[in-house]
Order: sequence, then C-alpha cells, then structure tokens
Amino acid sequence: MNHHKVIIIGSGPAGLTAAIYAARADLKPLVFEGIQPGGQLTITTDVENYPGFPDGIMGPEMMELFRKQATRFGAQCEFEHVDRVDLSSRPFGVWIGDDEYRADSLIIATGASARLLGLENESKLMGYGVSACATCDGFFFRDKHVAIVGGGDTAMEEALFLTKFAKKVSVLHRRQELRASQIMQQRALDHPKIEFVWNTVVTDVLGSSQTGIQGLMVQDTQSKEQREMPIEGLFIAIGHRPNSEMFVDQLAMNQQGYLITQPDITATDVEGVFACGDVQDAVYRQAVTAAGTGCMAAIEAERFLAH
Ligand code: NDP
Repeated sequence: MNHHKVIIIGSGPAGLTAAIYAARADLKPLVFEGIQPGGQLTITTDVENYPGFPDGIMGPEMMELFRKQATRFGAQCEFEHVDRVDLSSRPFGVWIGDDEYRADSLIIATGASARLLGLENESKLMGYGVSACATCDGFFFRDKHVAIVGGGDTAMEEALFLTKFAKKVSVLHRRQELRASQIMQQRALDHPKIEFVWNTVVTDVLGSSQTGIQGLMVQDTQSKEQREMPIEGLFIAIGHRPNSEMFVDQLAMNQQGYLITQPDITATDVEGVFACGDVQDAVYRQAVTAAGTGCMAAIEAERFLAH
C-alpha cells in the first residue's frame, strides 16, 4: 500500500529539485520534508546568489516556490521526519514511527546542520541570546555587544554581518591563527567594530531563559585562566555536520559523516540509493549546487528504475 517508485528524504534545494525532476518523469515521488521543511535556506534572509533572482529573494519564499513547482507536477510532500531506513532489503524500507513505506529507489537529501559547542546552557539559551545563524537573528542585537565563536569563513562573514547591528563584535577563536580565507580575514581584521580574542574557548554560557544570556565563562587555552565575559549575544559558527546518522553502517561515508558518492554522479555504494546536496558535499554547500545534484539524483534514479 505504501509502495513508491521514489522516496526523497529532505526538502532543501536538493530534495525539492529531485522532486521536480522525478515528478516530471512521472515517478510520483513521495517527499518526506523532515524537521526543517525547506532546509537551511528557511533560516536565512536574503538569497542573492541564486541565478534568476536579480533582486534577491528571501530564503523561505524561495523554498516555497521550489515546493510549489514540485507539487505542480505531482510530487507528494509530507511534513514528516523519517526515523529509520533499511537499505539491505528491496524495496528499501523507510519508517515514520511505526508506519512503514517501501521504495524501489531512494534519494537522500538530508542536508547538514550547524555544529554546536555542546555546552548544556548553549542549547537551553538557543533563541534567548544564543544563535547559530547571524543572518537570521542579527537584527535582534542592535547596539549590543555580541560574541561569535569560530575562525573560519562563516565566522568572518557572520561577524561582518553583525557589525550592521551590534555595537561591538568579539570573535573568540581557539587558536591564534584564523582558518578563514585571506580576503575574509582581512576584512574582519580591518573592521573597527570587530575585536579578536585569541586562544580562547567558551566553557559556559551564563543566564537562563528568564533572564536571557548574561555573559560567558571563557578560558585562555594557554594560561588556562578562566574569566567572565559580559556579552549580550552569542553566535556559534564552528562549521556544519552532515545529517547522515540514520545511514551509519548502511552507506559509505567519510570520517566527517559526509555520504560518499561515486565520482561525477550521485550514486552511493548501495545500488538504487542516491545522495545529493549538503549531505554529500563538504566543499561547495551552495543552494545552486545542491539543486544541481538534486537534478542529477532524479535523472539517475529514473535510469536505474528503467533498467
Ligand atoms: P570551517 O570548518 O572552515 O571552520 C570552523 C571554525 O570553527 C574553525 O576555525 C575551527 O577552529 C572552529 N571550531 C571548530 N570546532 C570548534 C569548537 N568545538 N570550539 C571552538 N572552535 C571550533 O567552517 P565554516 O563554516 O567557517 O566554513 C565551511 C566551508 O564553507 C569552508 O570551506 C569555507 O571556506 C566555506 N565558506 C565560504 C564562505 C565564503 O567564501 N564567503 C562563507 C562561509 C563558508 P580551528 O581553525 O582551530 O579548526
């Protein structure tokens, strides 16, 4: 009863582009949208680098257009989170709670999520002064002193973005050397509102959901000295992790958990299972590249099913 030719897991640019192509190939794909329908773009504001939108477009609006285009051709989009899959049997098994679905081919487009520091109060204060997305939340920190953790391009980009609102941005980095590209480093280093705090890690986030964030406990990695740092907002920018836990021991993945696809195609090591978007791309991680690999996955699934 719940048998489908193609099930797509994930609904960012990769999953929904796969859905458009699979639907137009009359495969009637079933899309499980996951806990963040529309993917990471729904927590960004302006998207200015997606071709076809010369004036930019808001991320959530763009993903709504993707979804509309997919459903117009017959894709069935469900706001459900897949709990587990079984890729050892055919048709492949997909479970939402106790509900079982079967698919002749599977397209995995589960994306990536922001990494967090792992401190208890960090998650408790998420939305109360702690954020993993400056472009989403920067606006709320007008004239405040905020800190950002990380030394990569994301941290530099977000620190620069935050200077539009905050009165001061402290970049806390665990080393004395940035990982970011030279051009991004220089822009941040030259900015009068940005301060760099080197060799420093956050050991605790102070405050509660009642008071909001009240400061940080930070430690100097060399002297081991701890001190309190009074800041009014904390942004975490320490990279992303692919959402691939569900496929451990079922699909080949690299040490960071990115699914391994064969060169130049989206086939995984299980025939009939394809992976696209950020879950298999640690390099480009762009909406347009995710959409491109989503298209590839659908075309490859169609060819696989035809055989
Ligand atoms: P990166 O992995 O490049 O950087 C992560 C940063 O976080 C590193 O400086 C790392 O420190 C630090 N870090 C990691 N874990 C911890 C931890 N537990 N505690 C404290 N600090 C930690 O991730 P990004 O998201 O910055 O970038 C990902 C990719 O996207 C890169 O290839 C980047 O170039 C690209 N990108 C490009 C942009 C652009 O060109 N405009 C914008 C944004 C991203 P350490 O250096 O010590 O390892």
